[in-house]
Amino acid sequence: MMNRRHFISYLAGTVGALWFLNSCKNKATVSYKTSWLSDNGAFGHMIRDPHFPQPSSEIRIPVLIAGGGVSGLSAARELVKNNRNDFLMLELNHITGGNAISGQNEISAFPWAAHYLPFPNNSNTELLNFLKEENIITSFDTQGLPVYNETYICHEPAERLYLHHKWQDGLVPEYALDTNDKKDIDRFFRDMDNYRRMKGSDGKYVFEIPLAAASTDDFTELDSKTMTVYLHEKGYKSPYLHWYVDYCCRDDYGSPAHMTSAFAGIHYFASRRGQSASAERNSVLTWPEGNHFLVKKMEKYVAGKVMHNQLVYSITKKGNGIVCEAYHVVNKTTTRFICDQLLFCLPYNTAKYILEPSICKVPETPPVHNWPWAVANIRLKAFEQERGQPLSWDNVIYSENALGYINNCHQLIRQHDPYYNFTFYKNILGATATEARRKAREMTKEQLVSDILQELQLAHPRITESIEEIVVKVWGHGMVSPYPSYLSRVKPTLIKSIDDRIYFAHTDLSGISIFEEAFYQGRNAAEMLLKQKSDSVV
Ligand SMILES: Cc1cc2nc3c(=O)[nH]c(=O)nc-3n(C[C@H](O)[C@H](O)[C@H](O)COP(=O)(O)OP(=O)(O)OC[C@H]3O[C@@H](n4cnc5c(N)ncnc54)[C@H](O)[C@@H]3O)c2cc1C
Repeated sequence: MMNRRHFISYLAGTVGALWFLNSCKNKATVSYKTSWLSDNGAFGHMIRDPHFPQPSSEIRIPVLIAGGGVSGLSAARELVKNNRNDFLMLELNHITGGNAISGQNEISAFPWAAHYLPFPNNSNTELLNFLKEENIITSFDTQGLPVYNETYICHEPAERLYLHHKWQDGLVPEYALDTNDKKDIDRFFRDMDNYRRMKGSDGKYVFEIPLAAASTDDFTELDSKTMTVYLHEKGYKSPYLHWYVDYCCRDDYGSPAHMTSAFAGIHYFASRRGQSASAERNSVLTWPEGNHFLVKKMEKYVAGKVMHNQLVYSITKKGNGIVCEAYHVVNKTTTRFICDQLLFCLPYNTAKYILEPSICKVPETPPVHNWPWAVANIRLKAFEQERGQPLSWDNVIYSENALGYINNCHQLIRQHDPYYNFTFYKNILGATATEARRKAREMTKEQLVSDILQELQLAHPRITESIEEIVVKVWGHGMVSPYPSYLSRVKPTLIKSIDDRIYFAHTDLSGISIFEEAFYQGRNAAEMLLKQKSDSVV
């Protein structure tokens, strides 16, 4: 008998073959440009075997921020708000933002990775303050609930799922499910609601964002098993529920449910309690350029202080000072920086290569595993509406590997414009995160585009006829994986620094890669730095 998973792959195969025949038939009409997003990603690996020219210049600065992602920018904001303007930021890319950057063509802006921020929890006052400062929250009502700027709340229709050849409203499978499936799905959401309300003996929520604000009670048992094991233990049998939970793990963590901790899996559903005076609880904030919008709001704190194209490759101590060397990947020159304190806002895996081991002992963490992602920005000259729920902001395809795409024109007020920009998100999976990264490295542009189109054509068999351009980017180290036991073991690391001079901030140290965690990481590290009075060497 054909089980559900086999049925899906059978379906995928059939549609794929039909598309192939179809595309052969239409070959003359199909012509679109494909390219990679050009960036500095490849330079990152040079830190493993550094052979850089001797420094040709020296800069002395009290505080240095290494890394200009959301964590680094949030740290800079905290420094400036505390009247500390005596810092510089070093960033490898030619723009700041890390994996919350965007692109633009004549149709609209589009994200290269992070694309939305759910309404933050009302206890996350620092983040709410930032949103208020930037007019993303316009006011607070008499009960203190935020009123969000309507332009940024995801418009309806927000989400749809392609299931059984038809688009349904929302992402939880509903269409043509039998009673047992529905019972399982209802029970699961009741279960998650109980977790959402659960507090530890310290009165704090067990599932909280940022994770550092959660109860410190011991939940290692839940964190030690996978989400798939958890579902089986609880007797959930519905293949639709299993698919949905797996999709959520792949979408938020890059890793499938059978490689994601049950604590992290539940966290996805149980950690959000953000309420607003102006919209439903589960709404999200989004912009055509995704979270780059938020990055641009933080850039004012580093105006005139960022040095781009700088690959930080060595950090060591000298007397009471810190010496950091960086290679300018365009000019091919090296600069030596001498500072009193340093905020290390780089991916944590780079610490073992960059920090001089005999002098700066890297605080130990469990191994950081990063899952790769591929993102394709697809420009269309037309889009045909199909059966069922109309084109939405998030459009997900029910299949084993596909995630789906975002319509970047969704928030724009346009009339009768036939052009669209879709951002397609693809997990690159493997038996381990390392194997998946190797696969991602070896994939040619043609293979990647072909895989993406096959996934897209499950729902839109004729879409290639409307495509004008596809630009792809691989995020080799896309997201930290909350694999079983990682969250319980990484927690104590958050408070460590090296001799109160080097502080760490990156979502790798949260274990969950989302804007809120990066914002917290940077702010927390900068707060620790600000508390420390150190003798100056600069
Ligand atoms: C495909 C994808 C989709 C995502 N979607 C969402 C979403 O919708 N919503 C959400 O909240 N989150 C999303 N995320 C996660 C979110 O983008 C991240 O959690 C957050 O931006 C991480 O910020 P960070 O500063 O901790 O790290 P990073 O973004 O990794 O920042 C580190 C910075 O350091 C720089 N750097 C690295 N090495 C060096 C070096 N040696 N020298 C100098 N600079 C260096 C990098 O260029 C980078 O700018 C997504 C991530 C991916 C990959």
